[in-house]
Amino acid sequence: MMTIAERLDSAYGRITQAVKKFNRREQSITLLAVSKKKSINLILDAYEAGHRKFGESYVQESVEKIEKLAHIDDIQWHFIGPIQSNKTKLIANNFSWVQSIDRLKIAKRLSEQRAPNLQPLNILIQVNISNESSKSGCTLEEVSQLAQDIDTLDNIKLRGLMAIPEKKESLEQQIHAFSQLKTCFDALQTQYKEIDTLSMGMSADLEAAIAAGSTMVRIGTDIFGARS
Ligand SMILES: *Cc1c(COP(=O)(O)O)cnc(C)c1O
Repeated sequence: MMTIAERLDSAYGRITQAVKKFNRREQSITLLAVSKKKSINLILDAYEAGHRKFGESYVQESVEKIEKLAHIDDIQWHFIGPIQSNKTKLIANNFSWVQSIDRLKIAKRLSEQRAPNLQPLNILIQVNISNESSKSGCTLEEVSQLAQDIDTLDNIKLRGLMAIPEKKESLEQQIHAFSQLKTCFDALQTQYKEIDTLSMGMSADLEAAIAAGSTMVRIGTDIFGARS
C-alpha cells in the first residue's frame, strides 16, 4: 500500500510531466487535494506531508472536519460542491475559497453572510462547458454578465473559473472542451485584474487540462483512493 505522502508525490509527478510535455511554466499549477468522504486522519497525513490546500463538497461533513481541525491555522479550504441557499452561511464562514458559484443569488448571500473580520471570500464561477443537464454551472454565454454582477459585491473576490467537463474518449477531445473555458478565462482576465485561477482537471483528465491552460487541478481519487 502506498502512503498518502507517496500518492501526493506521484500526483505532483504527473503534474510536472504534463507541465514539461505541454510547455507550461514550472510552478504554474496548484494542486487541490479533494478530501470529500475521506477521514480527518487521511487529511492529517497529507498535511504532515506538507500539503495545505483541500477541497470539500458536502457542507455538513466538511464543517465537522473544519471545526475539528480548527487548531491548525494554515489549511486553505475550498468548497467545490453544489450549493443550496440555506447552507450559504456555513460556507461563507468556514471556507476561504468557493469554486462552485453559478448564480448571482448565491454569490450575494455569501457576500452578505461572510463575517466582516474575515478576508473577502475568493470565488470561482463554475461553468457547465458540456451543457450537461445533470451538472451545475452556468453556460459560457452567462459568464460575462455574472462576473459583472459579482464584481459589485463587497466581501467577495472573483478569482476565475472552474469546470467539470463530461468524460471524453480522446486526449484531443478533452483538450478541446477545456480550451473553451480557457478562451473565456482569457477574456475575463483582460477585464478584471484579480483573475488568476482556472480550476480544471481531475484524476482522470489532468493532462488535458494542463495542456489547455489549467492553473489548478483538483485531485481526489489518486491521492486518497476510491470513494465508496
Ligand atoms: C470529487 C471532485 C473532484 C475529484 O475527483 P477525482 O476524480 O476523485 O480526482 C474534483 N472536482 C470536483 C468538483 C469534485 O466534486
